[in-house]
Amino acid sequence: MPQRTKGVVKDMGKVAVYPGSFDPITYGHIDIIERALEIFDTVIVAIANNAEKRSLFTIDERVEMVKAIFKDTPNVVVDSFKGLLVDYVAKTNAKVLLRGLRATSDFEYEFHMASMNRSLNPHLDTLFMMTSKDYFFVSSRTIKEVASLGGAVEGLVPDLIARRLKEKFKLPVTKKREIGWDD
Ligand code: ADP
Repeated sequence: MPQRTKGVVKDMGKVAVYPGSFDPITYGHIDIIERALEIFDTVIVAIANNAEKRSLFTIDERVEMVKAIFKDTPNVVVDSFKGLLVDYVAKTNAKVLLRGLRATSDFEYEFHMASMNRSLNPHLDTLFMMTSKDYFFVSSRTIKEVASLGGAVEGLVPDLIARRLKEKFKLPVTKKREIGWDD
């Protein structure tokens, strides 16, 4: 059984850390996690708590939603991190970072991040998994845009997330502006 001790992760077999904003998690992310579980014993979903980047959902909400989605999958561990990703990964026994690739537009950013992380920790490699054909057009950003305009996002995110998006966007306009979000 994986141990869910925050920070230090032990006896989890082959571990991959899947970092991201997950604002909110989509079936694109979930597909990557499920496919990664065919290769790794444990996937740690590491949700970035980045004060610089405005998010629609708070860090606690994002963590709670991903935990709810994987409540029956003990080899998916959900955690949050602040600061440098390589410092967070050093507290786990992961040697692999997991990222998803959709279009060539993802490539440049991912290439730079992977190269930077490798330079910060030469023992850390990034594994890229290609998106599935069903989700290549799905991003948290477009999901939020569509949901904010009242469009249906069912089938692209779990029902729980679709509900939570509806709740968020029911807020009065002034409150929405106060919250704001970038991506
Ligand atoms: P970030 O803000 O760090 O890019 P995201 O939550 O947007 O975080 O994405 C986390 C990772 O998941 C990234 O590697 C991203 O490319 C990947 N990803 C997002 N959506 C999809 C999708 N539909 N298919 C495959 N990978 C995806």
